[in-house]
Amino acid sequence: MSTSSTLNILFAASEAAPLIKTGGLADVAGSLPAALRELGHDVRLVLPAYPQTIEKIGELTTVATLKLGGYQQPINILSSLLDNGVPCYLVDAPEYFSRQGNPYLAPNGHEWGDNAERFALFCRAIIAIGQNRSQLKWQPDLIHCNDWQTGLVAPLLSTEPNRPATLFTIHNLAYQGLFEQSTFNRLALPEELWTLHGLEFHDQLSYIKGGIVYSDRVNTVSPTYAQEVLTTEFGYGLEGLLSHRTNHFSGIINGIDYQEWNPTHDSRIHHHYDHTSFQLKQLNKKALQAHFNLPQKPNAPLFGYIGRLVEQKGVDLILQIIPGIIDRGGQVVMLGSGEAKLEKAMQEMHKKFPEQTGLFIGYDEDLAHQVEAGCDAFLMPSRFEPCGLNQIYSLRYGTVPIVRHTGGLADTVVDVTPETLADGSATGFHFDEASSSALWGAVERALDFYQHSRSHWQRLAITGMQQDLSWASSAEHYQTLYIKALADLEEC
Ligand code: ADP
Repeated sequence: MSTSSTLNILFAASEAAPLIKTGGLADVAGSLPAALRELGHDVRLVLPAYPQTIEKIGELTTVATLKLGGYQQPINILSSLLDNGVPCYLVDAPEYFSRQGNPYLAPNGHEWGDNAERFALFCRAIIAIGQNRSQLKWQPDLIHCNDWQTGLVAPLLSTEPNRPATLFTIHNLAYQGLFEQSTFNRLALPEELWTLHGLEFHDQLSYIKGGIVYSDRVNTVSPTYAQEVLTTEFGYGLEGLLSHRTNHFSGIINGIDYQEWNPTHDSRIHHHYDHTSFQLKQLNKKALQAHFNLPQKPNAPLFGYIGRLVEQKGVDLILQIIPGIIDRGGQVVMLGSGEAKLEKAMQEMHKKFPEQTGLFIGYDEDLAHQVEAGCDAFLMPSRFEPCGLNQIYSLRYGTVPIVRHTGGLADTVVDVTPETLADGSATGFHFDEASSSALWGAVERALDFYQHSRSHWQRLAITGMQQDLSWASSAEHYQTLYIKALADLEEC
């Protein structure tokens, strides 16, 4: 084992930006390992070898070949050093991962029928690396697992001698990796894991439960969400189990990658600016209005939304208040893809108000940066939000966030109140209830602010831009958690 001041960490995730991304997990896996390396740790990333990932990395070397029990084909481990200095291993099992498009969904939008098999294999490969059975001549002190796709690592490791410590991070409790009981038998998992205290969850096989029950430490991605998931409203039936683990469960807010998300040098936006040249943000607004064929009115408050189109994000609430924003002379631009009924509702709204709304249904990284740089305000009315990254990007780009008071949104945005205005800490607007009227209340407050006192608005935006939103402090919190997990393991 390495000394506790420099740890060997295997960071296991099913996606990592910029190699493969569907959501916030990818942003974290793409930047936290590098921040931890800056603290002196030997952190290595392990991902499935999806074809688009192989293509993006380019040069790869086969560094090991695994023969895993129960699998016919040998599995290659490919390796490369990423641009951010993080060594990366890809688990190359073409039968399971050589599929274009979304890593979890088939082209028809449904989950791949063999997702349980795909990610069980991924977990077994992670364990082979973790236990130094892979000819890599490197063993981690700790495996940092992320979300259900890595949920079998801790249970399968739990009975092995000389195992590394484990940390399981929940990026979204709504996605649990639930499969029929017959899958458990098909995967030839050890029988003793099928108990109420193990992988069984209401007669189903639960990958996320495996991570929660068997990992030395468990965390989620904001302190407020860590409290919320202990309640029936947010816990999806796992609240009792999480409460039981409360001494080993905590919340750490995500940081953001300052190389990727920085208006002073972001190559994807039209005009660079910082808090001392805030007026240049106006040029990005003009460019965004032009992009969406909106009238280039400098004083029309421009609201933005970026994200998956799913119930969680409260996009339906935004749709209900768009006419109100337009009545007050505002404009709205939206970028996202997801559920067909929400995509359709957005298209209908855009058809109704082509001169005041801009819409792109799809995934577009460049446009995401341009929306953050060009908008005056950002709408994030999530019903729940483990951390949320777009409101943090908004703060960084001086785009005032309007957020529901939940999860990481509550932890990152300071609501405008007489007190927070007086002490200069306000950065955005909160509302409580998940309803369009509550959202409208916050939007109205923002509109009043924007239309009556532009210098106060600018103050808010600049306060947001000046927050330290980098990974520096959160990476230190992870370091502390790793050390606690190692101490827990020693005690066992
Ligand atoms: P979640 O992980 O729940 O999807 P987050 O706010 O944590 O939500 O992270 C979402 C990430 O995905 C952000 O980096 C966001 O910019 C990006 N994103 C989501 N939808 C799109 C899209 N349609 N085009 C470009 N980027 C997107």
